Order: sequence, then C-alpha cells, then structure tokens
Amino acid sequence: MEKKYYSTVGLEVHAELKTASKMFCSCKNDPDEIEPNKNVCPTCLAHPGSLPVPNKKAIEDVIKVGLALGGEIANFSEFDRKNYFYPDIPKGYQISQYKHPIVSGGELAGMKVTRVHLEEDTGTSKHDKGDYSVVDFNRAGVPLMELVTEPHTFDTPEEAAKAASVFAKELQLLYIYLGVSEANMDKGEFRVEANISISPEKDVLNKNRVEVKNLNSFKSVERAMIFELNRMKGLFEEGRENEIVQETRGWDEMKMNTYSQRTKENAEDYRYFPDPDIPKFKLHEMFDIGELHRNLPELPKAKRERYKKDFGIKDEDIDSYVSDTILGEFFENVAKLLGQEEEYVATASNFITSDLLGLMAKDETLTFPSPETFAKLIKMFKESKLSSRATKDILLLIAENDKDPEAIANEKGMMQSNDLEGLKLVVQTIITLNEKIVADYKAGKEAALQGLVGQVMKETKGSANPQVALKLIKDALQ
Ligand code: ZN
Ligand code: MN
Repeated sequence: MEKKYYSTVGLEVHAELKTASKMFCSCKNDPDEIEPNKNVCPTCLAHPGSLPVPNKKAIEDVIKVGLALGGEIANFSEFDRKNYFYPDIPKGYQISQYKHPIVSGGELAGMKVTRVHLEEDTGTSKHDKGDYSVVDFNRAGVPLMELVTEPHTFDTPEEAAKAASVFAKELQLLYIYLGVSEANMDKGEFRVEANISISPEKDVLNKNRVEVKNLNSFKSVERAMIFELNRMKGLFEEGRENEIVQETRGWDEMKMNTYSQRTKENAEDYRYFPDPDIPKFKLHEMFDIGELHRNLPELPKAKRERYKKDFGIKDEDIDSYVSDTILGEFFENVAKLLGQEEEYVATASNFITSDLLGLMAKDETLTFPSPETFAKLIKMFKESKLSSRATKDILLLIAENDKDPEAIANEKGMMQSNDLEGLKLVVQTIITLNEKIVADYKAGKEAALQGLVGQVMKETKGSANPQVALKLIKDALQ
C-alpha cells in the first residue's frame, strides 16, 4: 500500500489598503501612478529627522476586517521595527506589528485566522536596465495589511491547494465588499503566500516548511502548492527528507515549477522592537468598535445565504452574483420587478447567466439592458407571448439598445400565437404533408413528433408555442 502523507498549509496574505494617503506620511497612495518617485517625501524616503504619523483610516480598515472575520480587536496595539536590509526599504527596517497585532483570531471559508496586522509596503525595484537597477518609492509606505492563517492539515496536496484558493478568493471578495482594498492580484494589491509542509504523521508539523511566493492568480496558488507538496512528498519517499529545508521558493508559471529564492529567516533574525517614534494605541478608546461593527455592509456569506433563501436559483448563479457585484445588482433589480414569483425569478436568472452573459462575452459593445426592459421580456416569455427562440433574439436586441421588447416583438412579428383555431389548421396541414413521420409515431416512435413540432414552428415562423403545438398534434393523431 502506498504510504500516506499529510499536507499542511498556512497562508499569509498581504493587501494594499486603498486609503487616500500613505501609512505614515501625507503622500498620495496611488497604485496607478506611472511616473517613478512622484509620490514621495522625506518620511517615506527615510530622510534623517523625519517622523512617522500613523494613518487613522488604515487602522480603522483593519478593525473592520477583524470584525468581519469575527476576530478579536486588541485594545492595546503598537508598531514595531522589522529590521532587514534591501534597496527598496530605505529605512533599513519595515514598520510592522509584532506582539500586538490589531486583530487576533477569526474565521473565513473554513480556515482559522491567526492575526491581521498593519505595516508599510516597500518600494519597487526594476532590474531591466542592464548593468544597474532602479528603485521607485511611490509604493514605499503604502498601508499594507497582512493576514496570517493557522496551519490546516489535509489528506492530499489537492485538497490543501483547493482549500487555500477557496480561502484566498473569499478573502479577496471580503476586502472588496468592505471597500478596504481593490485587492487586484494582477496589480500586486493582493499577494498570497503559502507556507506548506508535508508529513507522514497527522498533526505533526514538519518544521522545515517551505514558503511559496510569486503566486499571481488563484490558479497559480493551486498549481504551485500541488507541485511543491508533491516535490516534498517525493523527497520523503526517497528517504531524502533531510533535503527539505526551511526556505522561500518562487513559483515559475512558465516552467510550472518552484525554485529556491532564499533560506527563510526566523523572527529572531529581524530583531523586532517597538518603534520609539510612534505612540502606542488604545484602540477601544480611539474607535467606537460597536458602531463600526453595526455599520459593516452586507458581506459575501450573508448575501449568499439571503439569495439562497429569497430566490429559488442555482448555487452557481448565486456565486456569479456574489462575486460580481454589478451583475448581482442587476439581478436583484430584476428580481424586485418580477415580485415574489419565484419561478419568474429563476427563469430570469437562467437567461442572465446562460444567455445574456454569453452574448456579452462574445460582443463587448453590448451592455446590460435596464432591469425594467429585461423584466418585461421575462414576463412576456413566462406568459407564453414569446417562444424561447424569440426571447433570445430579443435579448440580443435589448442588449444592443434598451428598446421595449413588446415593440420589437410586434414590429418583427415575433409574438407567439395563442390563436388556437389558426394553429389547429396549421397542425392539420403538417400532419397531412408528413405521412412518414405520422406512421413512425403510430409505430411507437414517440420522438418522431418533434419533427412535426419543428415543421409547425417553421410554418408559423416561430410564433407558435411549441408545447401547445405538441399537444394539438397529439390530440389530432388520437
Ligand atoms: Zn511620503
Ligand atoms: Mn508582511
């Protein structure tokens, strides 16, 4: 039997807060600034004699995150210096938090949170100049929120990777809902690092864990973790587990493998100590925590539950609406107009997620119709005034320009005929013209009738209701 290995993962997620100014100075916090070293001052460039002044809004944002995660908001908190040298960190230390983070505990998407603290971002180095490198300090001193999870153990690398990416996605969504960060992964506003290890025994942490970085998408979080856990598993299987060292490894998306970047420092290497230039905080005196709690917006989890309870729609549809807030708002407005008719709302949801989004993906000039127009189209379909084909055709037209679906249907002769007498005549004609199909049906081939329905639809240019046509055909052939 193959030997079993447990996979353990803990995540570290850094997110840039979208405050107006930087963490310890009044420079603009602008992730879109392209001119290098524009948003800088003596403080974020670490000139002698400059002093940091903490950004209250950034602290408030971290408290909101803590409340949303159900964590504990510290009363006493302080900033520390994390000492290390790198060209993009001009002071020779990063202002961070060590013993007294703003938030302790909490939970999200089945993973326990250890802490959330506040620090400052570094500048960015560029090494594409040939024999020298340049540093841009626009990002230096931008408020950076770091969240650390507890380690969680799983039976397989795949399960660990899935749990990590589900957590990271839900966290990104939470930050967007709270309005604390744009959390755009491509822009480095939301950076996920996975601390992973493998062990033949459950709940025994291998102290030589590997930290995987450069994870620029949720897919790469999963791929990198699966690759790295299997690499470590392979070393175990060959009896070479002593070759697993505590280190930081980068993920190479092109080569689909990880490579060693540096051996990992321990906390003691950073010589953390409280920053003497920054006053300590009593957060419960500085902020009305209860008020901040009451003012939290509806969060993704609550929205998901509300959609599940209020509308009879598919889980996948709910996920689309919760993760895309503009789409969610469109759906909710349509649902409001369709009233409490659950069946109408479910139909509307199907047309939104399978048809409207499909059309919009193919042609980016298309836009959402107004909820009123869209709801009217759905009502016409549910009241059998439009066939499914006609509804889809009109959907395209109202996404091109928000015209009245009833006017379009009348103009183009798309209204489904509820003229039973007229339809009976068409059915009679079609039956007479299709002796072979009729014979097949009478010989027991029930499906043959669809051929007749098709002909009726053709004859009526799609204006017949196919269910009604089928019933009329069956009645006529009895
Ligand atoms: Zn500055
Ligand atoms: Mn950090």
